[in-house]
Amino acid sequence: RFEFSDSNKEDLPINKEHKIYHQIGKAKAAFVVLARNSDLHSFRATMRQLEDRFNHKYNYPYVFLNDEPFTEEFKQLTSVMTKAKTEYGLIPKEHWSVPDSIDMERVLRNMAKMREEDVIYGDSLPYRHMCRFESGFFYRHSLLDKYDYYWRVEPDVQFYCDLDFDPFMYMQDHDIKYGFTISLYEYPKTIPTLWDAVKEFSEKYPEFIEKENLMEFISNDGGQSYNLCHFWSNFEIGDLNLWRSKAYTEFFSFLDKKGGFFYERWGDAPVHSIAAALFLKRHQVHFFNEIGYRHEPFMHCPTGNDLQLKCHCNPNDNFDFQGYSCTLRYIELKEKWFTEKNNTKMI
Ligand code: GDP
Ligand code: MN
Repeated sequence: RFEFSDSNKEDLPINKEHKIYHQIGKAKAAFVVLARNSDLHSFRATMRQLEDRFNHKYNYPYVFLNDEPFTEEFKQLTSVMTKAKTEYGLIPKEHWSVPDSIDMERVLRNMAKMREEDVIYGDSLPYRHMCRFESGFFYRHSLLDKYDYYWRVEPDVQFYCDLDFDPFMYMQDHDIKYGFTISLYEYPKTIPTLWDAVKEFSEKYPEFIEKENLMEFISNDGGQSYNLCHFWSNFEIGDLNLWRSKAYTEFFSFLDKKGGFFYERWGDAPVHSIAAALFLKRHQVHFFNEIGYRHEPFMHCPTGNDLQLKCHCNPNDNFDFQGYSCTLRYIELKEKWFTEKNNTKMI
């Protein structure tokens, strides 16, 4: 039970019916938050930062999704954090369950083995549902039908920098379809056969592979093997139509039939990243350097003096150029591609 004190009662929209939503941002966009009821307080801390750093000026709506119904407490204590509209959706059972074709004994055997090998989340079935849902289903939830762009936000992440532009409109204006802030190497033990499946898919559907793609970011040998680089998908600003596309629909369904979301522990980060790298043109993927962001244990903190003026993170703790990050590789490739294309150096 919780109660508002009298002193702040009058400011708070106790009854959402009386609230007027003034969306100022011009994009058809929303924050998408997959969360459990138990994530309430962690998410409120995140939401406060997102509102303060950015959304109080734009009032983009929030869509909360959960495999269980959200409690009234969750709805009330999140809706009061923003002037924007908040919506709460239940995930349909078929988007959060083990398909009939999956051999559950094999899943349990593999989970036990991964537990022995200390594979992170290796023995968790809910985590597998989460990864499969974020890979192939979140954008099919009916609450997202009316949007073109989404920003994925998780509980317990931090936003460090005042944003004085609208990343959704930036994407729309520049034909960008996938934006990230942190990239890194995946644990190979979670995806032993993922790349084989990707290769098989590319051979079967060459028409879906973009000519000007970002294969060099994810492979050091022209596509023979995966170098494990991926965009960290706990933060994503993306175009929903990328995932709704024919290419991605076929891709997800192909991967899903392989069973690797359950038999192995395929993450939504490598799945989204590989798709973005193969189906998009180079200019359609964007590094949002201005967005200082932390999800434990890594932080992207802009290091340029001009950007630092708007942030409160310590640039010495920036992960971008550390050994486990793929962002230096990404930046160097972008420069190389730019030089190749324009026959002149990027400044
Ligand atoms: P990590 O970032 O990979 O360590 O995984 P998290 O525990 O942060 O989970 C990723 C996201 O999925 C977060 O937004 C969680 O709130 C959410 N999530 C994870 N498991 C579940 C679950 O079983 N149910 C629901 N509704 N959300 C979940
Ligand atoms: Mn997380």
